[in-house]
Order: sequence, then C-alpha cells, then structure tokens
Amino acid sequence: MGLMLNDLLDFLFPTKCAVCGALPSPVCPGCIPLTKSVRANFEGLPLWYSVEYSDEIAALLKAYKDSSRISLVPCLSGLWGLGLNEAIAELEPEQITSPPRNKQNYKKRGFDPVGKLLGDIAGPAGKRDSRLIQLKRSTVDQRKLGASDRRLNVAGSMFCRPGNGTVLLVDDVMTTGATLSECIRSLQVAGYQVLGICVLAKRIL
Ligand SMILES: [Zn+2]
Repeated sequence: MGLMLNDLLDFLFPTKCAVCGALPSPVCPGCIPLTKSVRANFEGLPLWYSVEYSDEIAALLKAYKDSSRISLVPCLSGLWGLGLNEAIAELEPEQITSPPRNKQNYKKRGFDPVGKLLGDIAGPAGKRDSRLIQLKRSTVDQRKLGASDRRLNVAGSMFCRPGNGTVLLVDDVMTTGATLSECIRSLQVAGYQVLGICVLAKRIL
C-alpha cells in the first residue's frame, strides 16, 4: 500500500493507541514517553537525546516506521524537537545530516521516517537534511545484529563527497553508536567538522 493511502486511512479510521492499544488514537497521553533533553557525549562530541529508549518509544517508532502510522508524526517530532532545537541553538551547525538510508527499508516503507520527522519540527531547526552521507556498500539491517557485529557491518560502509563546514549529525535511535561512529568517520574524512549528535531516543546500555 502506498504512503498516501495509508496516511489517509490512518486519519480517517484511526486505530488504537500505538503503545497500549486503548483509545484514543494515535497515542494516549499516558503512553507518551517523558522527555528530558539530556546532553551527554559520544566519542568526545556533545550528544543530545530526548527520550531514553523504552518499550513505549519502541512501540511508537515501530508503528510509525513499519506500519506507516503517519498520525504519530506530531508526537514524535514534538519529542525530538526539544533536543534538536537545544543542539542547534548551542552548536549553530551549517548543515544537518542523517545516516544514509537502507534501500530495502525505504522500498518496503515507501517513505523516509527520519526525514519526515525533521521536516515537521518547528523552531530554529528549520533546516533540511543535507543527506551528505551515502552508502558505498550494502549493509544488513542493524536491528538484527549484536554490538560487535553492528560495528563490523557498518565499518567502512559510508562515504561523503569532499566538502567543508560544520555539521550536526541526527538520527532517530542510537543503540550501540556503531552507525553514528561510521557517519562521523566518513564526514571527517570528506572534510566536514562534526559538531555534535542529536537523536530522538538513546538506548541506555
Ligand atoms: Zn496508550
């Protein structure tokens, strides 16, 4: 089913809360994870996240990404916008970029979940995903792998065209950081200065 039809059906005939299954849809207030906008660090760079990874945020992201529950966009972009606007205010990056997309996922979903959230976030963000990073070889979906396999799966898998200027790296979920680490490497090799990272949800290991 194409995105537009799913989108329409989700609004016309809302299903139940993506987390607990009760009404109202798309998510009841009690199931929206608490946001904190935490400033931590990763590989010596500042790292912002809005939500600690939990069953609730996992259910929301699964419904949004795998079942195209587009009606969850305001909730998810609201959560992420908090950390993202803080990161942008502090770092003033010239560009924002996210990890390259897995083509199979994109085909299966018919839309770009991270790009759609970024486009919906209001405030000084107002920047688009520059899509600076590309895949130079295919990788397996990270969600199927353990920590050490994730690093091997993505090591050396990305490249950027030569460029310069400051960049904020963004993604929806940070698990082991293997993907973000490869993104940082490829950006730096190409000549960019990575100022920091902002993710919606971070798994606390
Ligand atoms: Zn609920």
